[in-house]
Amino acid sequence: MQGTRAKLLIVDDEPSIRESMSLILADIGYRVRTAEEGFSALIELRKEIPDILLSDLNMPGMSGFELLSVVRRRFPSVLTVAMTGMFTGDEVPSGIAATAFYQKGCGIASLLKVLEGLPGPNRALSKLPAASVPIWIQRNGHDSSGVPFVTIACPECLRTFPQYFDNSICQMHQTDCTFCSCLIQFAIVEPVSRGPAKVFEMKPADRKQEPCGAAQFYY
Ligand SMILES: [Zn+2]
Repeated sequence: MQGTRAKLLIVDDEPSIRESMSLILADIGYRVRTAEEGFSALIELRKEIPDILLSDLNMPGMSGFELLSVVRRRFPSVLTVAMTGMFTGDEVPSGIAATAFYQKGCGIASLLKVLEGLPGPNRALSKLPAASVPIWIQRNGHDSSGVPFVTIACPECLRTFPQYFDNSICQMHQTDCTFCSCLIQFAIVEPVSRGPAKVFEMKPADRKQEPCGAAQFYY
């Protein structure tokens, strides 16, 4: 998609990255908004739907993995670019619900190439596998009695609510949205470590395995 006046939402927990990217991309002609993690990105999405969402993967609060899967389900028309330094290459790493991938640190020219390579407005939306994308949720807390809970963002109404669960990792869970009663299926994954993780060494044929299998890719 050409840069002229396309609406862009940049999601990154690192202020310097948000600032430098928005300055450069606004200068080129994009209409840029920013958010510091997934939950605040959803608030921005409720205000106005961008043409392109550019999201970091490893963020506190709602991670990019989860944000991208929510956006793919709820806003399948939004073009999404996953960005991280955790993976290398030009291809979207397996299991990430994004249209394209930008390897952080490769420079603005490389980012622009990714943005310009996105499909135009006449792309066939029906080919996007919207409903098949699971919601992956990072385990993010315990209450005062030590019971683990996660914060779920409903892919239909985009409101968020806490959900308690038993301690079994790697298992599909389901619940009804507190607000709109939409049935939500989700899998818990452990928070991504910041280390140089050996990740996504899976073969393409493995992509259709249980989404909760994703947890193992982070170690
Ligand atoms: Zn809902």
